[in-house]
Amino acid sequence: MEIWHRVTINAPAESDLLKMIENLTLKKETLQLPGGGGLLVLIDIKESDSNWPVISNLISTANAADMKETYFNEEEIRNAEWLRLIPTFERGYPQPKSHWPLKQLSYEIICPQCAIYKQIAPMHLAKEPFLGKKSFMSMIWASEIFCVPEVFQNLKTIQAHGNQVWEALIHKSGIPSERVQQLYIPGITSRGIIFEDELIRKTCPACGITKYYPHLKGEMLLKREALIPDMDFLLSNEWFGHGLLAWREILVSNRIAKLVLDKGWSGIRFKVVKIV
Ligand SMILES: [Zn+2]
Repeated sequence: MEIWHRVTINAPAESDLLKMIENLTLKKETLQLPGGGGLLVLIDIKESDSNWPVISNLISTANAADMKETYFNEEEIRNAEWLRLIPTFERGYPQPKSHWPLKQLSYEIICPQCAIYKQIAPMHLAKEPFLGKKSFMSMIWASEIFCVPEVFQNLKTIQAHGNQVWEALIHKSGIPSERVQQLYIPGITSRGIIFEDELIRKTCPACGITKYYPHLKGEMLLKREALIPDMDFLLSNEWFGHGLLAWREILVSNRIAKLVLDKGWSGIRFKVVKIV
């Protein structure tokens, strides 16, 4: 596991901070701030880097912005009992795009204020998507996952549990896509994710549901009792997102991750979920 940080530091002109940053031997991007106000310094750094303790200290002392992201290597993924499936290939917007995500045929909106929802009908695509060599795709704003027929054939072969095939409709014609179908996941875990205190969350005043900001740092912890036995696909009980963005995490079993790696399919990646 490697935790990466994108650190953004506002360094005033001729400040000690700026001199100190300039002396660091690491790759950085700088942007001149208007009016000679100094530099905006962007640093991409992993926690195993020898400079990390210095930068980590700067994040608090220089009040820098810190975006985190975690990458797991293949061995860690193959050894994990459960994983999060993270879409990495987005194509187009769900349709109709206006008023998204409210007023949709695909969603029953449970709360118009925080936009938690239940999918009740097929998703609509703007047009036939071009996937190139990708096997999975998602859409901008939406968390539903779509696959090419080869994926569904192989899931059938290994008798995967907990996934359904839903058509994806081309919006104008209403005809199902010939290239992708939705990998629909009906099963939802019980509440069981253990959140770190630092993860920002907001409880909706209208419905009382708490949405968490994206979980980006390290392994997600999930209590074993939250899982439904004999399933390969589940959605998290907990909601993530902010504003009108709302999603449940897609959870997959070890054998699904192995299948994807063995086949070399792309368009998604995995993050380890530690079952506790
Ligand atoms: Zn709400």
